[in-house]
Amino acid sequence: MILIWLWKRLNKTGARPEVSGRLLRRFPEAEINKLLRARILVEDRKIDSWGTCAHCDCGHDARMIQEINGKLVACCPLDPSQDVFLEPADLMRYRIDGEKLIAAIAAAGKLTGTLAVISAGLWSMGKAATGRSIFLCRSPRDVLAPGISMLLKSLAGGKPPIVVFDEIDQASGIRLRDMEIDAHEVFEILHADGNGVEVMSFDGLLPPSDRVRLIIRNV
Ligand SMILES: [Zn+2]
Repeated sequence: MILIWLWKRLNKTGARPEVSGRLLRRFPEAEINKLLRARILVEDRKIDSWGTCAHCDCGHDARMIQEINGKLVACCPLDPSQDVFLEPADLMRYRIDGEKLIAAIAAAGKLTGTLAVISAGLWSMGKAATGRSIFLCRSPRDVLAPGISMLLKSLAGGKPPIVVFDEIDQASGIRLRDMEIDAHEVFEILHADGNGVEVMSFDGLLPPSDRVRLIIRNV
């Protein structure tokens, strides 16, 4: 799911969220075009140099991209076997519009209500069909910051807030559970539909107590 992949990218690149055309190669062109039309991805700049090869002794900060026999090549001055052949689209850098991306994730997950930024990396996404309040957060430390857990609980009303993280380390997972924050990792919202197409849903996120009850009921 490209929206979630971009969100992870946004979390990692922070203040200047961008992605290269080469990294986007893994996704179908039609999906990229859709994101460009929606201005979730914005063409930003074209680069003219490429990172040096790993463990290179050339001493350069970057290698120049040259056109050789009509092909774009990032040449290693020392070792031709390390040359990288590039497509023109690889040189484009795209800016990720964080706000539009988050709105697209909320829409894809069929959440209702208003979207709001709580702090850098933490969004209030609206409500799932289950009536539960959903938050999307880059890292547990954003929720463990002073005052944030209380804020999320008051925004969520009577039920524990559901917070979806990129990843949760074990220690933070325990702390969040003790704070009665219903913490989930982002892979839990991705499912394949009947046609094998990956879809996003926040409706299957259950608090730990409900999960136990569900298992007992099924036995
Ligand atoms: Zn090199």
